[in-house]
Amino acid sequence: MSTDYIKIKAELLVEGVRASNQALRDVGSKFKEQNHGLFGWDFENHIDTALPDDFLLPDGTVVQFRLNSRSKYNIQETSGELQLFCLEDKICGVQWINRPKFYSRKTSSGDEMIKIGQIGGEDCLFFCYQNYCSHFSSEEQCLFCNLVSTSQAYNSVLKKKDIESIGEVAKVAWDEGMVNHILLTGGCFSSQKETELVTDIVKTIRKHTGLERIPGTVLPSPAKNDDIIKYYDSGIKAIGYSMEIWDEKLYNAICPGKSKTTSHKEFLVQIEKAVKIFGNGNVFCVLVMGLEPSDTFLNGIKTLSEIGASIVPFVWSPNPGSKLAGHRAPSAEWYINTIYKAAEIVIKSGASISDENHCYRCDGNSLLHDVLRNQLKNGSN
Ligand code: SF4
Repeated sequence: MSTDYIKIKAELLVEGVRASNQALRDVGSKFKEQNHGLFGWDFENHIDTALPDDFLLPDGTVVQFRLNSRSKYNIQETSGELQLFCLEDKICGVQWINRPKFYSRKTSSGDEMIKIGQIGGEDCLFFCYQNYCSHFSSEEQCLFCNLVSTSQAYNSVLKKKDIESIGEVAKVAWDEGMVNHILLTGGCFSSQKETELVTDIVKTIRKHTGLERIPGTVLPSPAKNDDIIKYYDSGIKAIGYSMEIWDEKLYNAICPGKSKTTSHKEFLVQIEKAVKIFGNGNVFCVLVMGLEPSDTFLNGIKTLSEIGASIVPFVWSPNPGSKLAGHRAPSAEWYINTIYKAAEIVIKSGASISDENHCYRCDGNSLLHDVLRNQLKNGSN
């Protein structure tokens, strides 16, 4: 019987993982380390320890590394190879991801490139243009969010990034051959300023890389009406909406600040508009999976797929600094049962499943793209 790597990934995301000092020896020099560009996903902070951002299972599945020093899952080096154990049982080999060369370089203005952009998974160049969210000052941040405490704990990225430096990092990273997609995001702030900033960044990246349109996604505060057109005209291929929770009442409760500025209904109206402009499959709706019942989550998958949106459902991490720190996510079994139903709904809807702007290698904290990849590979319909 073949190994079920998606099940292993679900277990690792829900239970967290730890690693021996020997296994971590080359993280930060030979292998890619976490750099906390926006949120922290570990179950506990690790200020003085370099940990991998993510790692690979034998079939190429990318798994986010979420430190839990009490986890039954443990990565150790044995005979020069990294092995994943569950208690004493050997599960499979794993691989850290190579550290990009640009992590050691500086921009022409002398800033360390790693403090400006980071690689998510194996191929997604990530820029956070704003480590600030206005909902924190009114104590109305989303209950699962630890943006402020992560930034204070690690202080590892430049808070203000020069636009030309972002373009320079993009050029160097692209030339290195690792990047297939880009992701631009930040916390919520005044929409007009954000639109100007993000569209300027996209244009600058195009100038530096010479790309006509950038494969990847901008994920700003919910884009509305004319702003959607401005983002499209800037030259990015896809746009994202962080809707977070599908069930309207739970959304209002879990995201008190965001739901006051963008209602559930408004999200849907704008996502539909964005699909008309960016095209089927080029609008991504980000949901946090594990904070609402399976039924309402799947209703969301159905409605969103039917209007031509793609969904990226992150497996919730009850991380330090968020209001839900110390809570527990649903079981891995719950995630597996729900995500297979979600994949079936997406496939039946006929929505475009393209890896042009986001793929299973872009991040390690969602399961849907892994299931879709396998089902499509196996010819499921
Ligand atoms: S909108 Fe919510 S999830 Fe996004 S940065 Fe603000 S508090 Fe965090």
